[in-house]
Amino acid sequence: MKRAFAVIGLGRFGGSICRELTELGMDVMVIDKSEEKVNEYANLVSHAVVGNAVDETVLKSLGIRNFDHVIVAIGEDIQASILTTLMLKELGVKNITVKAQNDYHEKVLSKIGADAVVHPERDMGKRIAHNIVSNNVLDY
Ligand code: ATP
Repeated sequence: MKRAFAVIGLGRFGGSICRELTELGMDVMVIDKSEEKVNEYANLVSHAVVGNAVDETVLKSLGIRNFDHVIVAIGEDIQASILTTLMLKELGVKNITVKAQNDYHEKVLSKIGADAVVHPERDMGKRIAHNIVSNNVLDY
């Protein structure tokens, strides 16, 4: 079944999620405050919007609560990431995944009800360390 995703923030992480979801045949809407970023993805996705995710009217007008899953991939602006997550939660979005910048950010996101919090650099570091160790074990 084709599910509807919204990706907020088109940095390396958000951009990569967006590309993969599209490849998997999902319906993807992207939102970024940078017009340049949005133009980069406009041909790839079903709906590309230039807008500030911290603005509740923007989120409401896009019918964000009807999406199956929203990914908040705003990185450096921790305040914007937290506020956006809070508003998505208040608007009744069922599944929210958020990228955390650090452990404090992660803690706040979990407290306000993010369904999943990812910390790509740390998570990938862990995964690679495990892979390295298990490959070494297999070598013996
Ligand atoms: P990455 O490591 O994934 O490249 P990053 O952690 O450096 O990303 P940023 O570059 O700070 O993250 O933000 C990712 C994207 O989010 C940027 O394209 C930026 O324009 C967008 N963004 C930041 N704040 C907002 C906002 N309030 N509303 C919409 N988009 C935003």
